[in-house]
Amino acid sequence: MAREVRGRRRRGYAGSDEIITMKNVSKAYATGAPALKGVDLHIKRGEFVFIVGDSGSGKSTMIKLLLRELVPSSGDINVMGYDLTRIKHRKIPKFRRNLGIVFQDFRLLKDRNVYENVAFAQRIIQMPSKDIKRNVPSILATVGLAGKYKAKPRQLSGGEQQRVAIARALVNRPTILLADEPTGNLDPKNSWEIMKLLEQINENGTTVLVVTHNREIVNAMQKRVVTMKKGVIVSDEEKGGYIDDED
Ligand code: ADP
Ligand code: MG
Repeated sequence: MAREVRGRRRRGYAGSDEIITMKNVSKAYATGAPALKGVDLHIKRGEFVFIVGDSGSGKSTMIKLLLRELVPSSGDINVMGYDLTRIKHRKIPKFRRNLGIVFQDFRLLKDRNVYENVAFAQRIIQMPSKDIKRNVPSILATVGLAGKYKAKPRQLSGGEQQRVAIARALVNRPTILLADEPTGNLDPKNSWEIMKLLEQINENGTTVLVVTHNREIVNAMQKRVVTMKKGVIVSDEEKGGYIDDED
């Protein structure tokens, strides 16, 4: 933790509580209409934000821009003090270490067990094995999978597989967790459990952004809701709800 704080100071980032800033961001792919058009988004450290909107409205494009998987066609993006329009390629891995990412389709290693799937994320950042042996069981307990560490993904339910993916995203203690439709493949009960887990992670201090189509959960949870439509943010409400499409 102390190391992280020093890193922020070095970048002149201490003192700012805004952790994600998008200013007038547009993104056009090689073909088709622009996916994002003039997006402004400001997120503070510790917030929980839902991103909702129809399919094709630009939600995944926004997530990919925040991961620096894509670069914007114009505009500025700053995440945790990193200027993503100017960041050097060799600095991108270090930037990404502070991000956890969860997808709809879990993306687990199918031939590895639960423990290995999570430990893998620690090996990538060269965590010493004595730390891995402490951290992995601890994070698996946090996501409610303490008894399942030897299971292979195919032996788990969808909800359990998503918990493994969340454990993997969290084990390196990210500052921000980005989840792109994490409950898209889950039934209502598992969807609720995953969203409650994301809420708990947020209550422990992680900034959480969740792209979702789950109207019932968004309406019930009373969090900030950013609604996208055709590449534009059409509403941004504290304690919002899912806006019905009028057309
Ligand atoms: P959402 O996640 O809200 O469904 P996306 O960000 O995936 O929306 O897509 C926004 C728009 O950009 C859509 O019109 C989609 O077809 C288009 N798009 C997404 N990825 C690409 C790509 N790699 N090349 C061309 N167009 C793309
Ligand atoms: Mg998407």
